Amino acid sequence: MVKFRQHRGGYAESMATVVEVSSMADLQTVLADWLGAEVAKTARTLPYGSGVDVRNGWNTHVVLVGAGNAVGFTDGPLLRTDYYGYEADCAVCGVTKQPVGRSAPMRFYYCTSDCPGYHQEPLPSNLWPDESESDFGYPVVR
Ligand SMILES: [Zn+2]
Repeated sequence: MVKFRQHRGGYAESMATVVEVSSMADLQTVLADWLGAEVAKTARTLPYGSGVDVRNGWNTHVVLVGAGNAVGFTDGPLLRTDYYGYEADCAVCGVTKQPVGRSAPMRFYYCTSDCPGYHQEPLPSNLWPDESESDFGYPVVR
C-alpha cells in the first residue's frame, strides 16, 4: 500500500488527509472524487525532494495532474499501466528519436542526443512505444 496526502497550506493539515491506495488506478479513484474524473486520468508521480522526508519517513513523490499542477504527495512511486511511450520524428534529420537515456538495438538507426534536432519539439519520450511506465519500473516525465 502507498500513502497519499493532499497538498494543503501546511504540513499538519496535509498529513490529516492521508489515505492508503493500492495502485495508480486506486489513486485515480480517490482523485476523481476530489478533482473530477478528467483531471484524475492525468495523474502521475515523480520523485520529489532529495531522499527521505525526515518528518514522516516518506520516500516522497509528488502527484501531478494536467500541465503539472501538484495536488499531493505519496510515500513512493505509483506507476501507470496505461501510459506508453510515443514516436517523435526529428525535424532536422527526419528519423524517429530514440527514447531519452535508452540504448537502441545496433541494427536500428534512431535520432540521438548528438543531433541538433533531438532536443527540439516534439520532445522524445522516456519510453519505447510498446513499453508502459509500469513495464519500465520507474516514473517518467514523458
Ligand atoms: Zn535528428
